[in-house]
Amino acid sequence: MSSKQCVIGLDLGTTGVRSIAFDQKGVIITSNYQEIRQSYPNPGWVEQDPLNILNVTLELLHKTAQDLMGYSILTVGITNQRETTVLWNSKTGLPIYPAIVWQDIRTTKYCASLKKEHFLRVKEKTGLFIDAYFSATKIKWILDNVPDAKNCLNKGILKFGTIDSWIIWNLTGGTIHATDTSNASRTLLFNINTLKYDDYLLNLFAIPPSILPQVKPSNSSFGSIKNIFSSPVTINAVLGDQQASFFAHSCGQTSIIKNTYGTGLFMIYGTGNIIHPSGKLINTIGWTTNKNTEYAVEGSVFTGGSVIQWLRDELQIISSASQSEPMATSLSGNNGVYFVPAFSGLGAPHWDPYARGAILGLTRGTTSAHIVRAALESMAYQALDLFKSVQDVNPRNKIEKLCVDGGACSNDFLMQFQSDMLQLPVERPEIIETTAFGVAGMAGISCGFWDPSSFRDSKKISRVFYPKMSQDERNSLYNKWKEATKRSSKWETPIN
Ligand code: ADP
Repeated sequence: MSSKQCVIGLDLGTTGVRSIAFDQKGVIITSNYQEIRQSYPNPGWVEQDPLNILNVTLELLHKTAQDLMGYSILTVGITNQRETTVLWNSKTGLPIYPAIVWQDIRTTKYCASLKKEHFLRVKEKTGLFIDAYFSATKIKWILDNVPDAKNCLNKGILKFGTIDSWIIWNLTGGTIHATDTSNASRTLLFNINTLKYDDYLLNLFAIPPSILPQVKPSNSSFGSIKNIFSSPVTINAVLGDQQASFFAHSCGQTSIIKNTYGTGLFMIYGTGNIIHPSGKLINTIGWTTNKNTEYAVEGSVFTGGSVIQWLRDELQIISSASQSEPMATSLSGNNGVYFVPAFSGLGAPHWDPYARGAILGLTRGTTSAHIVRAALESMAYQALDLFKSVQDVNPRNKIEKLCVDGGACSNDFLMQFQSDMLQLPVERPEIIETTAFGVAGMAGISCGFWDPSSFRDSKKISRVFYPKMSQDERNSLYNKWKEATKRSSKWETPIN
């Protein structure tokens, strides 16, 4: 009977939405994917249409339902791009403004004005820095700039949510307004010590509590999806995308380190049930269950795989992301060309919202292949920046390998170069859509489809990349990268 059962992982990513059904061996039964639209109305602004995300999600779930005729769908887990902010009118069900995406830095100036007085207290409570990346100042921007926000607030029909909450609200017919702790921990409004919204933070950012979703443990019931599958299916887990990937890699074990190569790059190091000093990185909630909370140290890089999309869509020097690999390997080296993709400033460990993208080292002999190669190498250098910061906060724990996932980790050139830069083995799983796999795992475990050890055993390794480059060559390449980031830093005028 169990051979006909399955679990769905729904991944509401930044680049696109993916719906994958897994059987009990962790094998993919069906996988559907569709890109979502982004717009860039002003420098530093990044927006998406919440209705486009919803429609794409519904279409993919209907396709998944068709593919799974004859299967019994036990549960759905939802994982999502984090921090991205949606405000909607709960009466009409319509968003009152586009979703402000996590990469959007329109509130940088406001964040700078708060740092001096509130930096330490906010870090202590949330684990985060005061930065435009997180949701709080995005919510405030909408409240201050969109007239309909005040109207709806006064009528008691204004709701805020990250993408998980927006989709759950819609899939449950407007009955559930909720999120999980891993997503809440990215809002700048949630105290990761008490696991509650914090009055000091709500006052600081002037956010009315009435608009906030209820925060639940990650493996709770988030309501039932009706009218899509042959019978209602319960959502039994919600996790931010990076936390879902972390769950898939660690399966509840601490001291693994993972890096995801999606739109951005996200390195996570598990610290068990303690909030470890994080230096230039942030503390985040990995997940909570009814019994415990798993904390992590995280480094977030704002532009990772999306630099490849930019080469495809704007410069049009590649026609697909996978074409970047043969172009990079057609060269024997980078010819001194470096690409700092600071399109939204630089995230960890630089935290420089005024940095801007730069391509350095151009000569008349530079070709589009050099630019493509420099873009791929930039991901590996940025991951090394993060890795060094993890080592700074955790000098005693020897890290033996890096676990990877996300769209761009399918690129063999990038993975080999990453291993060379880290001087560590890089382990790529068979299923690189690890976010969907992770949240399906949590949902499946919570309803008895897997036990934690059978879920762990279902993860298969496809390839391990070992370092081949000499230390000297690696050091000289990396030193030049550090020089390149210095040149791009504070390109826009900082605000004092
Ligand atoms: P997200 O979850 O953030 O939506 P994904 O994990 O789906 O992202 O990864 C998509 C990103 O990976 C895109 O930005 C794309 O440009 C990049 N990407 C996909 N395949 C490759 C590849 N073979 N080489 C380099 N980058 C790639």
